[in-house]
Amino acid sequence: MGVAAKKEAIICLSLFTLNLSISMNILRKQFLSHVAQTSPSPMLVEVARAEGSCFYTPEGKRYYDLVAGVSVSNVGHANPAVVRAVQEQAARYMHVMVYGELVETPQVTYAARLASLLPGGLESVYFVNSGAEAVEGALKLAKRFTGRTELISMRRAYHGSTHGAMSMMGAPEGEEWKNAFRPLLPDVQAIEFNDFGELERITHRTACVLAEPVQGEAGVRPPAAGYLEALRRRCDEVGALLIFDEIQTGMGRTGAMFAMQKYGIVPDIVCLAKAFGGGMPLGAFVSCHEIMDTLQTDPVLGHITTFGGHPVCCAAGLAALDYLLEHRVVEEAERKGALYEELLGDHPAVRGIRRAGLLLAVELGSSEPLYRIMELFKDAGIMSDWFLYCDTAFRISPPLTISDDEIRDSAALIRRCLDELK
Ligand code: PLP
Repeated sequence: MGVAAKKEAIICLSLFTLNLSISMNILRKQFLSHVAQTSPSPMLVEVARAEGSCFYTPEGKRYYDLVAGVSVSNVGHANPAVVRAVQEQAARYMHVMVYGELVETPQVTYAARLASLLPGGLESVYFVNSGAEAVEGALKLAKRFTGRTELISMRRAYHGSTHGAMSMMGAPEGEEWKNAFRPLLPDVQAIEFNDFGELERITHRTACVLAEPVQGEAGVRPPAAGYLEALRRRCDEVGALLIFDEIQTGMGRTGAMFAMQKYGIVPDIVCLAKAFGGGMPLGAFVSCHEIMDTLQTDPVLGHITTFGGHPVCCAAGLAALDYLLEHRVVEEAERKGALYEELLGDHPAVRGIRRAGLLLAVELGSSEPLYRIMELFKDAGIMSDWFLYCDTAFRISPPLTISDDEIRDSAALIRRCLDELK
């Protein structure tokens, strides 16, 4: 290439880069101006595409996605089986009629497949749009079935941001989130997860107890030995329904398809969302017919939704579930989680690791190093996050399809960031 041609190429490249950065700046400005913000300090990393365990900026910078959209992308980004299912269903039909009237193949097939995988008694699937809506539906169902009003949640539980789900946050007294939005649902009590003594507060007045089998936003808190059994027993004694929120723990995250199977406890109702939609918005609450059918009468249409169980979302979720099964992805989650633990656990800055399958909280002991490491992660190409009720630990919950090489590579990047904390 001659000097003139080289100069021209350099000028073209510079103009291209300038255009790119101007358009990016405009996009970021528009993001801040027109997309409602959830905090005063968004991360502001622009996503151009995502594939497998990573996403990429327009400049080609790679990020290991160790959040996976908060335990959503379990089968990896742009999984070809899910993309194909979405495209095919979108071409066949999208929205046709409010949920519950027409027989739509993706819904029916997904509900039947799910029922075949869940323990007996969890056979009737009510599809909704999100985790919070699944929780809302489950709470209403428990009140309707038992005729009782008291709802019991666990402290430091997160179940969603709508009024009902937020009422069940079980935040310690004075917690800022709930206080800012009162009045919330009445007759809600919170008990301490893993505290056997507090189970006595579940009484004949209690409609239901809502619990995550492994507390996620509390910073990954697995159940103490025997706790879920004791909880199940107490609910049976007083006739309260047990609701498991498996919105974060479901679809293989903890090393079993559903955490309830790992711990051998069957709830009366289970809530699903996040990875349940294979990357599309979908949730569900699932129960037995005796309980679920009470939503049909007195009044009819006890819970309704326009988009719940959208055919494209159901097709995506079903394709993701089939992928998990066919590729034996769930069977590997425990080993992969243990590999991260082995690669990071001995670093001097790490105070401990709490883990259930491929859901890890890496404890740094205080919030100051956590805030610093988040900045270091951003430069290093690691997407992590802290937990809603735990700002001393960072999260590792990548796609379950992450390879061993990617685990080793991302752990090496994390170790380098940990080194810089000294
Ligand atoms: N339940 C749990 C355990 C969650 O982790 C979340 C979200 O993080 C929700 C419920 C709420 O789900 P959504 O954001 O889809 O409403």
